[in-house]
Amino acid sequence: MHQLTLAEIARGLADKKFSSEELTKVLLARITQLDPQLNSFISLTEDLALQQAKAADARRANGESGALLGAPIAHKDLFCTQGIRTSCGSKMLDNFKAPYDATVVAKLAAAGAVTLGKTNMDEFAMGSANESSYYGAVKNPWNLEHVPGGSSGGSAAAVAARLLPAATGTDTGGSIRQPAALTNLTGLKPTYGRVSRWGMIAYASSLDQGGPLARTAEDCAILLQGMAGFDPQDSTSIDEPVPDYSAGLNGSLQGLRIGVPKEYFSAGLDPRIADLVMASVEELKKLGAVIKEISLPNMQHAIPAYYVIAPAEASSNLSRFDGVRFGHRCADPKNLEDLYKRSRGEGFGPEVQRRIMVGAYALSAGYYDAYYLKAQKIRRLIKNDFMAAFNEVDIILGPTTPNPAWKLGAKNSDPVAAYLEDVYTITANLAGLPGLSMPAGFVDGLPVGVQLLAPYFQEGRLLNVAHQYQLNTDWHTRTPTGF
Ligand code: GLN
Repeated sequence: MHQLTLAEIARGLADKKFSSEELTKVLLARITQLDPQLNSFISLTEDLALQQAKAADARRANGESGALLGAPIAHKDLFCTQGIRTSCGSKMLDNFKAPYDATVVAKLAAAGAVTLGKTNMDEFAMGSANESSYYGAVKNPWNLEHVPGGSSGGSAAAVAARLLPAATGTDTGGSIRQPAALTNLTGLKPTYGRVSRWGMIAYASSLDQGGPLARTAEDCAILLQGMAGFDPQDSTSIDEPVPDYSAGLNGSLQGLRIGVPKEYFSAGLDPRIADLVMASVEELKKLGAVIKEISLPNMQHAIPAYYVIAPAEASSNLSRFDGVRFGHRCADPKNLEDLYKRSRGEGFGPEVQRRIMVGAYALSAGYYDAYYLKAQKIRRLIKNDFMAAFNEVDIILGPTTPNPAWKLGAKNSDPVAAYLEDVYTITANLAGLPGLSMPAGFVDGLPVGVQLLAPYFQEGRLLNVAHQYQLNTDWHTRTPTGF
């Protein structure tokens, strides 16, 4: 049962092959048995899951249907869940029970999804390895000595290990697509404004976007359908109609123009990944796509710009964690300043503290123009590059990451080495564009992802291309040994 995709689960439930309650019990037992190897969950919500599963079964018995009705999922632990610990992977929020549900959580619950638990993540979503979590590192099910990617590493490892069919993640600079690539999943970061950020604990507000992690594009379509849509509670949510993503999966790729940026194939890219990327291009050509070399000339500035903007916004967003209103408070504060200093010093881990310092510095008087303003100008140039490219092509294709999953601890002493792994993913966040990573092969037994980018609100096109690719390849069906 644990091998079933969301689409197969929906069919099984509709045909009464099993109930949501039965499936939920199987998966909860599997998580209890196997997750100690992976550490992909921070909290299991067994009581809630069984209650939601029974309710979904009752709704089906009453004639209701729906692809998510009775479907087991989990949420990255930065989506607020009412009455349930919402830790954001941090000691700061270890004792925080959210007073309300995030819009994404509420929408999926209303559609009948069953929440099995809250998944592990890099602290405050800062990282590409899921090693900065207060709850310990997450392991990659493809090789337990390697990282699963981050920051949605718990969601990725759990889905890859078939502990459940799909989970939510968030992507500020790649945190859905990068762990998807490193664990052989399909992951989609929607257009900025497509999915509500209300109740999603903020890292960098102008970049953050929630989205689905699943094994197939077909399942990402189902989960995105439940997440997307206008939310009056989020002032950056956009009031655009949500198309039927599943209905769009079968469009023909005949004549689809795919752009491959020449800048992607620079020295930093593992040549074996470059070969797999080109093999995926050949596969799409067979389906009727035409390939064109394009250029994204400002791509080289993306990492420096991102690592100014994201920490700047983080330093502002994280100022609310002051030991007074939320989370950790130090013992016996001597005065207000001591309360702030020690609560924050004890509550935040080293990577979060590093980013707050970098961000506060970049925003400080005298440096604002040189760093933050400059980075915003680069952001516009990067967006313009994409706009020009999308005049010529329908989709941009390339690697999701320059390397496969690295060994646990390998980049711990050098944060910049980890930041460089984000080179292919962060441009989409800076421009606000949708992006998808899909499985495209293996290097040394470790999964490799190919990234597709599309114009604003063309999530359906990404899912269509990935689904057609997956009908003709079987990388996404491979299961890690032992799971
Ligand atoms: N690795 C990037 C960072 O550390 C992206 C994280 C994310 O997308 N949440 O900022």
